[in-house]
Amino acid sequence: MAIAILVGRNEVEQQTYNWFTQGWKRALLSFNPDLDVRTWPNLGNYADIDYVLVWNHPLGILKKFTQAKAIASLAAGVDHLLVDPDIDHHVPIVRIMDPFMATDIVQYVTAYVLQYVKLVSHWALKQQQKMWFKQPPFTLSNKIIGIMGLGHLGGKAAHVLHQLGLKLVGWSHSPKTITGMTHYAGKAQLHEFLAQANVLICMLPLTKETKNILNRQTFAQLPKASYLINVGRGEHLVEDDLLDALASGQLSGACLDVFRHEPLPFDHPFWSHPHIIVTPHIASVTNPETAAPQVMENYRRLLAGEELLHRVNLRKGY
Ligand code: NDP
Repeated sequence: MAIAILVGRNEVEQQTYNWFTQGWKRALLSFNPDLDVRTWPNLGNYADIDYVLVWNHPLGILKKFTQAKAIASLAAGVDHLLVDPDIDHHVPIVRIMDPFMATDIVQYVTAYVLQYVKLVSHWALKQQQKMWFKQPPFTLSNKIIGIMGLGHLGGKAAHVLHQLGLKLVGWSHSPKTITGMTHYAGKAQLHEFLAQANVLICMLPLTKETKNILNRQTFAQLPKASYLINVGRGEHLVEDDLLDALASGQLSGACLDVFRHEPLPFDHPFWSHPHIIVTPHIASVTNPETAAPQVMENYRRLLAGEELLHRVNLRKGY
C-alpha cells in the first residue's frame, strides 16, 4: 500500500512545482508518519501504489499504476487529468472541494469585480493628473454581473456578490434557484443570460462543451463595453477574439488568471495590453494543509471499501 504524488508534466514543471509536491508529502505524513508516500520520479514498484495524487502529471504514466484504486486531482479542476488517454474509466476519480479554496477564489473575483465597478483605475488616473474630477458616474454598481458556472466555486461567488448589493445573473448546465440571481440554464438560455451581463465571470470547468466558449459570438451578445473575468481555464478563451473585442470597444477590459499556455509566454500581447489585467493562475491555489484532510478521508474510505467523496462524473467531464 502506497500513495504516489505526481506533479508536473515534465522535468521543468516538476522542479518549478517541487514546493507543491513537498507540501503535499508533508501534509499527508503529518496525518500518519507511517504512510508510504512516494513522489515522482522515485516511485519504486508501481504495483505497490493504490492511491495516485496528480496535478498536471506526466502524460502516459497512469497506465503503469495497475493496482490503483483511485486517482485524486490535487485541484478543483480535472481537465489536466482527463486529457490523459490512458485513464482507466473503472478507477474512480475524485477532486478537491476545499472551502478555503472557495473563499480564495471568491475574494479574487470580488476584488476584480469591485475594481471595475468602483472605477478604481479611473480614480487612480485622475489622481495622477491631480484632477478633482467629481462627475458621474461615480460607480458602476448598477451594472449586472453574470456568472458562468455555479458549482462549488461559482455558487459561493454568487452568494458574496449578492451580499455586496450587486445585481446578478447566472448560467449553468442545469436549472437552479439562487437567492438574488436570475438564473439561466443550457445553450437555449445562453443568449438571454449574455445579453444582460455587463461583467462576465467565467467559473466553468473545461470540458468539450465549454472549450472556447469565450469567443467572438459570445462577446457580441454582451452589452457594449462589458468586462470579462476569466478564472476558469485558459482554453475557455479564444485569445484573438478577446483582442478584437477590446479593439472594437465591445469589451472594455479583461482580468485573466488562466491562459492557454502557462506560464504566459514573455512576448504575449496580454502582458502589456492597457485593458488586460494578468495574474499567474493564483486566484486560488490548492493548500495541501487545508485540502489534505479530504484526500486522507478518501484514502480511508478507499481502504474500507466505502463511497468516495467528490467523485468526478466522467461522462460530464467535471
Ligand atoms: P463545479 O463542478 O462544482 O461546478 C461547475 C459548474 O459549471 C456547475 O454549475 C455546472 O453546471 C457548470 N457547467 C459545467 N458545464 C457546463 C456547460 N456545458 N454549460 C453550462 N454550465 C456548465 O466546479 P467548481 O466550481 O469547483 O470549479 C469550476 C472551475 O474553476 C474548475 O473546473 C477550474 O477550471 C476553475 N478553477 C480555477 C482556479 C484558479 O485558480 N483560477 C482555482 C480553482 C478552480 P451544473 O451545476 O448544472 O452541473
